[in-house]
Amino acid sequence: MDYEVIIVGAGPAGIFAALTLANLGIESILLLEQGKDLSERKRADSEDMLCGWGGAGAFSDGKLTISPEVGGFLGEFLEQESLCELLATADEIYVAHGAPGRVFGEESPRLEELADRARLADLELVPTRIRHIGTDNCAVVLERLRESLAGRVEMRTGCRVQNLLAENGRIRGVSLADGQSLTSRFVVTAPGRVGSSWMKKEAESLGLKTKASPVDIGVRVELPASVFKEITDITFESKLIHYSKTFDEKVRTFCMNPYGEVVTEKHAGIITVNGHSYAKRKSENTNFAILVSSAFTEPFDDPIGYGLYIARLANLLGGGAIIQRLGDLLTGRRSTVERLDRCLTRPTLADATPGDLSFVFPYRHLLSIMEMLQALDGLAPGVYSRHTLLYGVEVKLYSNRIEVSPEMQTGVANLFAAGDGAGITRGLLQASSSGILAGRAIAKRMKKESR
Ligand SMILES: Cc1cc2nc3c(=O)[nH]c(=O)nc-3n(C[C@H](O)[C@H](O)[C@H](O)COP(=O)(O)OP(=O)(O)OC[C@H]3O[C@@H](n4cnc5c(N)ncnc54)[C@H](O)[C@@H]3O)c2cc1C
Repeated sequence: MDYEVIIVGAGPAGIFAALTLANLGIESILLLEQGKDLSERKRADSEDMLCGWGGAGAFSDGKLTISPEVGGFLGEFLEQESLCELLATADEIYVAHGAPGRVFGEESPRLEELADRARLADLELVPTRIRHIGTDNCAVVLERLRESLAGRVEMRTGCRVQNLLAENGRIRGVSLADGQSLTSRFVVTAPGRVGSSWMKKEAESLGLKTKASPVDIGVRVELPASVFKEITDITFESKLIHYSKTFDEKVRTFCMNPYGEVVTEKHAGIITVNGHSYAKRKSENTNFAILVSSAFTEPFDDPIGYGLYIARLANLLGGGAIIQRLGDLLTGRRSTVERLDRCLTRPTLADATPGDLSFVFPYRHLLSIMEMLQALDGLAPGVYSRHTLLYGVEVKLYSNRIEVSPEMQTGVANLFAAGDGAGITRGLLQASSSGILAGRAIAKRMKKESR
């Protein structure tokens, strides 16, 4: 064997798998990443945004959600207590590598009062404890993690895995895009959302059982930070759920960025929107996503294709991301540069095209978003202002879920799948935790076999 363990993808899942293995004394580990090395990645480069050493986490907002209800499905494999312990372990590793000490959203009478007020506004507040690293600090924390691995784990960047190689139901290694093949006893595949299509293809060819995840489609909302200040001071990120009046479907807020900025992302040649908040740099606005979840059964079962189609439509109409004042949307007209100039909320994203989101979203999505905005206005007056800005579209494409054991092993012996690319997680801390689970299981098995 060339290596004991090959890890595909140097995002949080891959990094934490490597770190766990190295800390447990395992040698001969290779971590492969298709993108650039951390120090060479540039945020302005859309390719670098999701790919490269550090994964999508490198330029993420760095909000570590310590609560078990959010950020993935590890709760389906572990008892609540074990999951909390695992999340705490991952969190401690981030803190040991430079994440700040403060945790937002700790239980308090103010939080309870906020939950009561949310209920009166037809919203459910999901309590979440969050540690905020901040987009600007993420690179520092990742650099320290990289230093921890250096010398103990071989790392290659600009190295794309083409195929996972298996024989008689057992993993044998990987083949690389340059034609080279590498053998290993174990493989951990952690390709992230950016690698979800690749993962789907590999899963099909290896005969792994998968199931489609729903797609989340919606808008990024931007408004003056004062509208949400009282709430974000308590929770930093408030996760609010509403069941829309007309369609009775789940609509939720996601990725709230107090004093943050709206950004664009490029994936599969399509431009979508997202948001960041920095530890030091502050804007005067807060942004967050409102997402509507859609699942499909038959004959259509391609939620990723559906989400990309809607995003492509926005790109077709706007040449990229579209921005619209809520007031314009409500009065049935497009936003223009002149109308935006009169908007009291100053947009933080410069390169969105003023347009009309009603040309983009299906009726049920648009209506559910509007009903959510109205409900939010009951909790934080000012949300349903005509000066609120809506950016489209935000799409969360979740990878097909691969069937794995509680140790993250797939149906192919010694092939483990972790993180967002396996559809098991949806956030930094659960992705990191799934890497820890895979790393621990492999180390345990290797030690048992060597006895
Ligand atoms: C803008 C943005 C903000 C976010 N903010 C937050 C946040 O505040 N809090 C939070 O919890 N989560 C956040 N997330 C989500 C979080 O970043 C992901 O959940 C997390 O990074 C998933 O980790 P992962 O290791 O599974 O995958 P990734 O981080 O996506 O890493 C996978 C890596 O694998 C590489 N790869 C893929 N295929 C191959 C291949 N074939 N060969 C070699 N390498 C390959 C990719 O290039 C990538 O670098 C954010 C995401 C984005 C995009």
